Amino acid sequence: LTLSTSRPRLHVIHIAAEMAPVAKVGGLGDVVTGLSKALQKKGHLVEIVLPKYDCMRYELVRDLKALDVPVESYFDGRLYKNKIWTGTVEGLPVYFIEPQHPGNFFWRGQFYGENDDFKRFSFFSRAALELLLQVGKKPDIIHCHDWQTAFVAPLYWDLYVPKGLNSARICFTCHNFEYQGTAPATELASCGLNVYHLNRPDRMQDNSAQDRINSIKGAIVFSNIVTTVSPTYAQEVRSAEGGRGLHSTLHSHSKKFVGILNGIDTEAWNPATDNFLKVQYNANDIEGKAENKEDLRRCLRLSSNDVRRPLVGCITRLVPQKGVHLIRHAIYRTLELGGQFVLLGSSPVPHIQREFEDIANHFQSHEHVRLILKYDESLSHLIYAATDMLIIPSIFEPCGLTQMIAMRYGSIPIARKTGGLNDSVFDVDDDTIPVQYRNGFTFLTADEQGFNNALERAFNFYKNNIDGWKQLVQKDMGIDFSWESSASLYEELYAKSVARSRAANRA
Ligand code: ADP
Repeated sequence: LTLSTSRPRLHVIHIAAEMAPVAKVGGLGDVVTGLSKALQKKGHLVEIVLPKYDCMRYELVRDLKALDVPVESYFDGRLYKNKIWTGTVEGLPVYFIEPQHPGNFFWRGQFYGENDDFKRFSFFSRAALELLLQVGKKPDIIHCHDWQTAFVAPLYWDLYVPKGLNSARICFTCHNFEYQGTAPATELASCGLNVYHLNRPDRMQDNSAQDRINSIKGAIVFSNIVTTVSPTYAQEVRSAEGGRGLHSTLHSHSKKFVGILNGIDTEAWNPATDNFLKVQYNANDIEGKAENKEDLRRCLRLSSNDVRRPLVGCITRLVPQKGVHLIRHAIYRTLELGGQFVLLGSSPVPHIQREFEDIANHFQSHEHVRLILKYDESLSHLIYAATDMLIIPSIFEPCGLTQMIAMRYGSIPIARKTGGLNDSVFDVDDDTIPVQYRNGFTFLTADEQGFNNALERAFNFYKNNIDGWKQLVQKDMGIDFSWESSASLYEELYAKSVARSRAANRA
């Protein structure tokens, strides 16, 4: 343990809908685990409260057992029992809540996407606080995430502080302002919150519909600390376009709002120890990267006739946010420039999935293009290791992980300057950025011309400056994208907030 002498040991409890790897849909799950592990390493006591989903990866939970005492919590005018389980995930203590409600709230075979999501997760937010109260926890920080547990903030101040759960400051992290958890105002009553008191413009009322409640807005108003997942995204959401209706709320609460770039799990993503790879390699010995390129080409039946032919990759959910039109364009432009292209992605949007299936069929036996339209963790590792470049042409990107993983594997990112991409990818030709930080190729305008410019510069560099490219690969592999420094920023925010509240209590 490396508890810094200047900081007190904090007790932090995350209340979240996801935690990697047991219950992961997207980046939120990675953040809960990555941040918690890093804080635990710094000597803090970190615990997590999750729903007990039927579709969780139970084989990754150690010592799962039920507590003797059920926790009763409120829903729609009645009390319901919750069976409480404890277990360890990635070395972190976790409480799992299993509601004994006939609605089988977390027994649906999927994490989200149910008609009653708003009620299921407002129920969970309340049950989690009830658990903390009943087992006598005295956390310094309760950290909630995204709209699913945004209810924790108003529930804490309105209902739980009066009951005696009053030691904590509330931190809320929004991982994507696209998803705001709105519902008809009356639905808020199911978790016991007072609709009349909260459906007001300065509280939880949605900024564009007076009869709707916005749970993210509630968390912004009622939390002590509000964060999002990169400094640039924190700026973008303050604008009318980027804030999806919440920019004015963020302005009113701007003093407590900051952007902190996510880290990546550098143990899971490490080319020197990655068992998915044909050959492991590191920044000092990148020969193995070429062998992985050969291996991937063989596996995917791509031509191997030119070792130096650049291999371009893309690993993504195929949704509008990710710039699908530019991804499609990139396939054709890469071919024209004499490269090879591999796409690993799938789409929850039927017409996008169909469109890419057509493209995949078109290139079915092409020697330079392969589209694999599914989610495949092991293949993603091979692609990061095998590719020379990875494209991330997002329209908006709160943080983004693939650019950081790509760099760790020596695949040079070609990224649009937006959100977290703008905070982690710096153009090799940008004179305004100190040379030591330059690590990839970027473009600003989200159109084909903008993208072409970055791709062509990358191809020219790759072809005409073999040594320079090798140095760039080695440099990118050496960049520290671990949670260490981001966790220190959270630690500082927590500690300051706790100190402020203690000072206020003394006064
Ligand atoms: P988002 O959370 O918006 O999907 P991020 O860049 O934050 O985007 O995280 C994406 C994560 O999901 C990365 O770890 C990436 O490797 C992984 N991923 C995305 N699509 C696939 C896929 N089809 N197969 C395997 N992994 C994928």
